[in-house]
Amino acid sequence: MNIHEYQAKALFEKFGVPVPKGAAAKSAAEFDAALALLPEGPTMVKSQIHAGGRGKGTFTNGFKGGVKFCKTKADAKAMAGNMLNNTLVTLQTGPAGRKVQTVYFTVASDIKKEYYLAVLLDRATSRPVIVASTEGGVEIEKVAHETPEKIFKVYIDPAYGLADFQLRQLTTGLGLSSAEAKGAARLIKNLYTMFWETDAAMVEINPLITTPTGEVLALDAKVSFDSNALFRHPEIVALRDLNEEDSKEIEASKFNLSYIALDGNIACLVNGAGLAMSTMDIIKHFGGNPANFLDVGGGASKEQVVAAFKIILGDPNVQGIFVNIFGGIMDCNVIATGIVDAVKEVGLKLPLVVRLEGNNVNAGKATLAASGLTIVSGDTMADAAQKIVKLVA
Ligand code: GDP
Ligand code: MG
Repeated sequence: MNIHEYQAKALFEKFGVPVPKGAAAKSAAEFDAALALLPEGPTMVKSQIHAGGRGKGTFTNGFKGGVKFCKTKADAKAMAGNMLNNTLVTLQTGPAGRKVQTVYFTVASDIKKEYYLAVLLDRATSRPVIVASTEGGVEIEKVAHETPEKIFKVYIDPAYGLADFQLRQLTTGLGLSSAEAKGAARLIKNLYTMFWETDAAMVEINPLITTPTGEVLALDAKVSFDSNALFRHPEIVALRDLNEEDSKEIEASKFNLSYIALDGNIACLVNGAGLAMSTMDIIKHFGGNPANFLDVGGGASKEQVVAAFKIILGDPNVQGIFVNIFGGIMDCNVIATGIVDAVKEVGLKLPLVVRLEGNNVNAGKATLAASGLTIVSGDTMADAAQKIVKLVA
């Protein structure tokens, strides 16, 4: 789960990670009240969307820049009017962009130098890793690609925690003065505590800055949490912004379905995450493009299957459906009944290829045959995949 910069910075403050003073507004009527919380002077206006690259983004109305420097609060108020309720396109949003529904004002900082700092989980070593670079501000992917030697990593033993010598490795690696190093070490230590205690998947500061007066501050904040641990953080769940999430994914989460929207045109309905992944692979293998990942789970109910079918039919990009079920715990007839019920409710104009195998398969096939639906059946996974790819071509 992702949160906005202004929410992430509120968490930073709670954990003792210094940030510039700021205030958010969700409507033009709130601009004055938000700005009243900040001192007069240079102010940043920052579009709040769940995507990076805002500074270099462009609004669909032609206005350039989702992060802007303003000399006065009055300028900041006018600038915020250009951003709010407009759609911002950045390298990370995709061409459709994201509608800005919150604007964040912060006191503008004087920058001496920009750095990159992140804490994330390293899957290869199963440990948290702190990633740091002197090349902050620009896209870190580009630095990683072109000058990887400018990025360094410190791996943390989760049982021992972040050690003081590792903090020194980091501040030395960043080339900080001794005064700056003191502030940076405190910041990094607190950031790591936040990462650990909130069950974050990633905490990224780009840029982390030093100021001419020797302060070390987080100018940007990007935080995502491990969804599997959200049950123990209701205060973080409360930060969820459904405007930023795919409506189909929200619907799927209500029914406990694992669904991820993709940009292809063949919808998949599968039981089991491994089979769902191999289904996407085999569609690709035969030249097609999956529209989603969907795992209805091992013991799905008929209601879940109906919900799943409706969600995939609700995607306007979908031109064909591939149901690939291997019934182990799953009863094939529950899937078949779910499909028939869903189609009765919402109709079906698209080609549907079904491959059913396993537990109670004959009853499942009989249910489909008796329904009068036009269904193409596949004997094997490869046969079915080839059929659906052909039908949508
Ligand atoms: P992003 O483009 O989505 O990563 O948004 P950022 O919050 O990182 O802002 C983009 C860029 O704007 C930063 O890399 C900084 O160079 C600049 N910026 C952001 N805040 C300030 C500030 O307070 N003062 C100054 N001088 N520049 C800032
Ligand atoms: Mg940034």
